[in-house]
This record gives sequence, C-alpha cells and structure tokens, in this order.
Amino acid sequence: MSVEGRPITATRLGDPEGRRVLVIGVIHGDEQAGLQIVALLDELPVPPGVDLYLVDSMNPDGVAHDVRTNANAVDLNRNFPYNWGPIAEPGDWQYAGPAAASEPETIAIVELIRTLRPDLVIWYHQDAYSIGPGEGRDGAIRARYAELTGLPMESVTGGTYTGVAAQWARQELAGNEPPGVAFIVELGVTLSADEARTHAEALLTIAGEPT
Ligand SMILES: [Zn+2]
Repeated sequence: MSVEGRPITATRLGDPEGRRVLVIGVIHGDEQAGLQIVALLDELPVPPGVDLYLVDSMNPDGVAHDVRTNANAVDLNRNFPYNWGPIAEPGDWQYAGPAAASEPETIAIVELIRTLRPDLVIWYHQDAYSIGPGEGRDGAIRARYAELTGLPMESVTGGTYTGVAAQWARQELAGNEPPGVAFIVELGVTLSADEARTHAEALLTIAGEPT
C-alpha cells in the first residue's frame, strides 16, 4: 500500500517452478512508459520455464500525480536499504527520505524481493535511453537486452546514487545460486507502441534464455 493508500500488486504468470523474473514498470511516477511494456507482458505468452512477476507501478501515488517522488516527496530510487545516505530535503528531486526504507512503497518491494528471491529483476525508467554496463553474467544479460532493443550501453551520470533499488537488489540477491541479476532500463522520452512491443519481447527473450 502506498502512502495515500493505493495498492501495490504483483501479477504472477507462467511456470510456478520456473526461473523467477520480476519486472517493475514504474518507480519514478513521472516516468510511466514502462506501464505499456508491463501491459504487453500481461498478454504475451510467457516462455517455458519462466515464473514471471509483474508490478506495473511501485509508486502508484507518483503515477496518479505525475511526479517523480512518492506522496512524501521521497525519491524511492534513493530510499532502498543498501548504501543509503541522506540526500537533501523534501522538494529536492533526489530527496532520499528520513531513513533507509522509510517509505511503504520501498518496504513493499524489499519484502517482495526477499520473499521471491528472483534470478532477474528489471526496473524501467526514462528518459536517458540507455542501459548501464555490468560485469560477468549480469553484464552479459544487460548486453543481450541492449542488443535486442537497440539501446546503447552507457552509464547514467549526474545524480547521487545511494539507496538505489537495483544496487540493493544485486546485493540482496548475491547469495542466490547463481547470484541474482538486477538492472535499470532507461527508455527514451517517448515510447511508441512498436518500441513497447520490442521491449516486452526482449524481456521475454532474456527471461527465457539459459544464462
Ligand atoms: Zn527514473
């Protein structure tokens, strides 16, 4: 449940015994293109051997108000309980909240990931149109997604990166065998219907590929 009482729900599709893959369409409420991708993933056939979980938005209040933060003015992608640091104050675009995992939306996703221990977690963002490079198996899966979608592999710069959701998830899932993979896909400013389909199909391809 969000600060304003909106539900945060996950839809489960595919093979319950399969590789667990979690997709989060929105974390920054004014970056909503991922909703189109999650809607397609809800309809397309799931590849064999994939246990797919879809969260359309982990920031439903931000989506409702078309703002980056949650209803407490917290940037949820600076609020996760790994390498958390205080950033700024309410009103700042990266306000990290009063403490690590202070926000109900963060806690909901932390609990979901600790329960599921997925092998692969992806968060969609805008507008940087890129995927950051990674190392090892994580890097190979990122590169494959980039290849399938045409996104350039580049690091995003210009922010303070503490309490970041994907960094927390990688650390949290490092004990999986093999260690879990988590990364951000930065979509462009807009996402056409064709591009949304390309991303949904790419997600299903990497979900279904042995790694
Ligand atoms: Zn973002």
